[in-house]
Amino acid sequence: MCYAIPAKLIKILKKKKHKIGIIDYFGEERQVIIDIDDLKVGDYVYAQGGVLIRKVPTKEALEILEYWKDIFFQLKQTDEALSKVDQDKLPPNALAILQKVNLRKSLKRDEMLTLLGLTQKEELAVLNEIANNVRQQQHGNSSCIHGVIEFSNYCRNSCFYCGIRCEQNIQRYRMSVEEIIAAAKEAVEKYGFKALVLQSGEDLWYDDAMLEKIVTEVRALGILVCLSIGSRDIETYRKLYAAGARAALIRFETSNAEIFAKLRPGTNLQDRIKLIDDVRELGFVLATGFILGLPGETHEDIANNILLTKYFNPDMYTFGPLIPTQDTPLANCSQITKDLVLKATAITRFVDANSNILVTTASETLDKSLRKEALLAGANSMMINVTPAQYRNLYSIYDNKTEDSFDVAQCIKESIDLLMSLGRCPTDLGIS
Ligand code: SAH
Repeated sequence: MCYAIPAKLIKILKKKKHKIGIIDYFGEERQVIIDIDDLKVGDYVYAQGGVLIRKVPTKEALEILEYWKDIFFQLKQTDEALSKVDQDKLPPNALAILQKVNLRKSLKRDEMLTLLGLTQKEELAVLNEIANNVRQQQHGNSSCIHGVIEFSNYCRNSCFYCGIRCEQNIQRYRMSVEEIIAAAKEAVEKYGFKALVLQSGEDLWYDDAMLEKIVTEVRALGILVCLSIGSRDIETYRKLYAAGARAALIRFETSNAEIFAKLRPGTNLQDRIKLIDDVRELGFVLATGFILGLPGETHEDIANNILLTKYFNPDMYTFGPLIPTQDTPLANCSQITKDLVLKATAITRFVDANSNILVTTASETLDKSLRKEALLAGANSMMINVTPAQYRNLYSIYDNKTEDSFDVAQCIKESIDLLMSLGRCPTDLGIS
């Protein structure tokens, strides 16, 4: 099974910053950034996260497409059937707002607050249905699955929420450069991943030369390399872009500067925002977002978090609930409800109809059913942990991280089965 369908390149456009391609999946077109040379119209390719990353030999592509050609249209029908909205059940206090959503008009902050304030089960169900409908209209049934390798749990920071903050008394590990490359190779060659997130604590033990070697070798596997290494010098990001990394996952964590400064001692929101802006400016495909439900946070803060994410014009929204974690200063905080995660997902879809929204592992940890429910409330992307088994439980950013007990093949099967049951297809989402 593969998590990406080959597309046919049908047009090459030259833009100032990048070469842009139009690719086709069974008649559906997407725009992508071209990141390889020697391409011509008519070639078959893989794209991930809006980046064309690899050419696929025509014979191989046609064989895979032969397998998908009927399934693709069947899945679309399932997705369309599941994305219908029951107009009669629209909640009266949100009616006008949701009509605005239907017209693709952007929501104001106070309208977001009204939606965040909904509590009735039926109202929430309609909110999710409409978000799912907007997702379907914007993206069809495209959904993506990326892999994540957590390569070090050393961290120089002291973030109050995090289970690998430097003060935690936990077993630390660092994968060697060779181990990281070998794990990526296995994820690509054995399991078929086309995009990998390389994640770690802020661990300066890996200097620029080591990171460059990792990125170069992992990119050479023909996949999209996404960095999730936190606040490093912008020069480091520049070098890693040159080495072949094309995506970066950096959350700003909270848009509330006071909460930020309190929960991330020694750091400040302004610097984090500047880093994200600068990384974007370098040309990285960007995934950013926040933690939901930090202590002291109000609905206003949540609305601001969604709006700040939108400000970055990210390729992917990533947010998940705070999971209070033992021995951290936030160990005794209360956990938010799954309804709030779903509301934030749906409202994000309304605020940025064309967005890509990740279902995060923190959401799945809060409630296993959230994976499916978030995918039916506007989300369209998920991640699978491919960290080697001996390290998997040690990257304990929060307690009871989901999936820890499963093997990779099992996780992949479950994810694919879920996507298929919802009528979703692993065609790339493209860029807007
Ligand atoms: N060092 C990198 C990667 C951090 S881990 C960086 O700074 O970007 C990835 C994300 O996990 C963090 O950005 C944070 O949003 C999230 N996280 C950490 N602890 C958490 C917790 N207890 N509950 C929920 N999310 C948490």
